[in-house]
Amino acid sequence: MSVFQNFIGGETVAAANVSRNINPSNTGDVIGEFASGTKADADRAVAAAKAAFPAWSRTTPQERYDILKKASDEVLARREELGRILSREEGKTLPEGIGEAARAGQILAFFAGECLRFGGETMPSVRPGVGVEMTREALGVIGMITPWNFPIAIPAWKIAPALAYGNCVVIKPAEIVPHSAWALVDILNRAGLPKGVLNIVMGKGSVVGQAIIDNPDVAGISFTGSVQTGRRIAANCVAASPMKKVQLEMGGKNPLVVLDDADLKIAVECAANGAFFSTGQRCTASSRLIVTAGIHDAFVAALTERLQGLVIDDALKAGTHIGPVVDENQLATDEKYIAIGRDEGAKLHWGGERLNRENPGFYLQPALFTGVANSMRIAREEIFGPVAAVIRVANYDEALAVANDTEFGLSSGICTTSLKHATHFKRNAEAGMVMVNLATAGVDYHVPFGGRKGSSYGPREQGSYAREFYTSVKTSYTLA
Ligand code: ADP
Repeated sequence: MSVFQNFIGGETVAAANVSRNINPSNTGDVIGEFASGTKADADRAVAAAKAAFPAWSRTTPQERYDILKKASDEVLARREELGRILSREEGKTLPEGIGEAARAGQILAFFAGECLRFGGETMPSVRPGVGVEMTREALGVIGMITPWNFPIAIPAWKIAPALAYGNCVVIKPAEIVPHSAWALVDILNRAGLPKGVLNIVMGKGSVVGQAIIDNPDVAGISFTGSVQTGRRIAANCVAASPMKKVQLEMGGKNPLVVLDDADLKIAVECAANGAFFSTGQRCTASSRLIVTAGIHDAFVAALTERLQGLVIDDALKAGTHIGPVVDENQLATDEKYIAIGRDEGAKLHWGGERLNRENPGFYLQPALFTGVANSMRIAREEIFGPVAAVIRVANYDEALAVANDTEFGLSSGICTTSLKHATHFKRNAEAGMVMVNLATAGVDYHVPFGGRKGSSYGPREQGSYAREFYTSVKTSYTLA
């Protein structure tokens, strides 16, 4: 069986323990054994990153551009293979896996360009004869803790800006999907990164993740994952001495409003895609479908018909629309919430059953609840599975109020042909991202990504806005 080790300070470092990476489409398929690191491994990686930082942060934009561009070229050339690796370990369909691998390549190319576009500002001083310059400098060592649902795109959108702006990195990917991040780190290192600039330490969050957070030589933590873990990390970063900069991307309970005047076909497509594609395992998933009374029954009927036509099967099989749930734990969570929804009095209108396929895997039929009140737990808590709740409302005003009545604020969508309502919704949705006649999930890579309220904390990710987190501003005054 293949064994994948941690990569620290430019070397492969054998770990005492390994963890098996299992294919959720076929639990008999063991992808490989992956290092399960220790606190000592994490500390060694931070020390290597710290040692590499002075030289790396002073490289020319051209040197950093060349490495990121070369890595981008390799990721794009190998997109099919990397997509297969991703779908095999995470369970999203092969087209989704290949698409995500390509996305990682595009992100690397974008941040290669950022190396060259990265400038400062000057201003005249309020004092005579004085000039003021505002420049940005790298933070130092950045710790990254990533989740399982985008195993290559999220590591790419954290690593690429960190490197582009001159930081060094220690990344700990989610324990159940380490192969994609490992492959990305391998590609970047072979593209020419000096040793120690980019290190990967795989293993448990409570061990490796915690050790990265506790290390005083880490200047910032970029985290994507659950609200619970995010809150703990933020508290740790603020209590640390010195304090750490922290960026958190966490949950969502994203609304998709469907108004009476919506194009029904577009609305059904937005809902099917937003709620159920990628097995509903996206923080931007449309888990609340808020539908006005006049279109409610037609929408539910058309969406149900769409769901009946979806193929739920092995992620690597041609023709599969929805792959399995990522693992046993997540499947248990999804089923727990389906039971909670029923107990709360919502109607399980379609699906929600475990499915058997050729190979043993974590297959779940997408579940659509109707008759849901926004106060129910299935409308308030993030499930992170193929489970959506239809909430019937009287009109646009009630739809907007219900859409905003949530502790989260990541992505918010509306399907309407009314310019007035679309414009009002864009202005008044309490979310970091708003979608009009588009699914709440599915974003561009060159513009900011992030949310409000309980969904996010700290500066935005992606696009040029990423520099807010990965750099520190310096204001210099000169008397000429
Ligand atoms: P999910 O439900 O998506 O697994 P988590 O927040 O548990 O969300 O996991 C996201 C990432 O955070 C993973 O890489 C995980 O290993 C890591 N993690 C979990 N617990 C901790 C912790 N106590 N300290 C640091 N990292 C953690």
